[in-house]
Amino acid sequence: MKNGDDTNWCKGDNIMRIYLDNAASTPLQQSVKDRLLDVIDIYANPSSLHSAGLQAKSLITQSSDTIAKCLNCNPYELYYTSGATMSNNLAIQGFIKANPKCRVITSMLEHDDIYLMLENHPKELVYQIPCDNNGMLDLVDLKMKLIDLTHKDTTPVLLSIQWANNEMGVIQDMRSISKIADFFSNVYLHTDATQLIPHYPISLCDIKIDMLSCSAQKIGGLKGTGLLYIRSGVYIAPIIYGDQGLIGGTENVPGIACMAEAFKNIDYSSSTLISSKRDYLYSKLKDCGTLVGSLENRLPNNLNMIFEGVRGEELQALLSEFGIYVSTGSACSSHTDTPSRTLSAMGYTKEQANSSIRFSLGNDISYEDLDFVSKCMHQFVDVLRNR
Ligand code: PMP
Repeated sequence: MKNGDDTNWCKGDNIMRIYLDNAASTPLQQSVKDRLLDVIDIYANPSSLHSAGLQAKSLITQSSDTIAKCLNCNPYELYYTSGATMSNNLAIQGFIKANPKCRVITSMLEHDDIYLMLENHPKELVYQIPCDNNGMLDLVDLKMKLIDLTHKDTTPVLLSIQWANNEMGVIQDMRSISKIADFFSNVYLHTDATQLIPHYPISLCDIKIDMLSCSAQKIGGLKGTGLLYIRSGVYIAPIIYGDQGLIGGTENVPGIACMAEAFKNIDYSSSTLISSKRDYLYSKLKDCGTLVGSLENRLPNNLNMIFEGVRGEELQALLSEFGIYVSTGSACSSHTDTPSRTLSAMGYTKEQANSSIRFSLGNDISYEDLDFVSKCMHQFVDVLRNR
């Protein structure tokens, strides 16, 4: 198989491996591995004032310049974190800390890091916008809520909305959300763009977003590296103290350099090809399962389907034995028996949600791989349904 041919984990055996879990993590790109080897010996602390420290600092500066060009923002608006979990926590907790009585508007579709974090904010200060059965948020409801919240009270409102969903790939209309937020004074917009970044270009000069989170491991970079963009002029308080201002601790210099390399390599033109492959897989599977949501406004590599009468984990385990790697719901929450919050919010029953499988394709997947996946899926769904 092509997908993963360049990775060590599939060498040494003859089993065909088909990795369809790119929404959970992507393979390291070759040029990122090369970059890692180039910079791994730059070990000095970037805060040290000797020339070795300055060399490390300069690597961060160069990386920020590269990433800022990709996101069309200023390099000094970028803050490095350990991943999107930390970026989301810093954005929201830091905002709440700077504005203790602020109201937060979010949705049921957010990643666990945001959902669980907000369980600690007083219930009366948190509001969740509903979505339709395709996962699109109700923007009329959002406007009404903002009118209601800003009518008499000038305490800031933080709107935190995921740009693209990790489970079923729905892409929200962030341009309209941004315009709505911008209409109100004292409303700030944070978005978790972790899943969108590898597929669609973002220009932060052309859309007013106050904070944006993302993670290197979703774009072919290293795990343990992420970033938080904070628009210049927006203030949040530190939540981790140390000697570095907003984020305490020594920066992960190799991780940051590799993230810049991964950003530089993103090929947005591949979105069309990958969505054709995704549609091909869907065309092969639609006689044995039901699509979650719609193919419109969806990440090009995401296919999430319900196979009624079959438990997602059982199907996943069988596929895994045949070298096919997929997720049930989101990888992060797939260890629990509670049905996916995203699917529940979209109106699916617990049984349906627990019968869902997410395929998230990588650029290198071939049509032959997808034919093999389809063949296995038909056989396994049949076996599991007729037990
Ligand atoms: N947000 C979204 C939308 C994600 O998909 C993920 C990863 N599953 C995260 C946040 C957390 O990212 P990380 O694991 O890099 O902290």
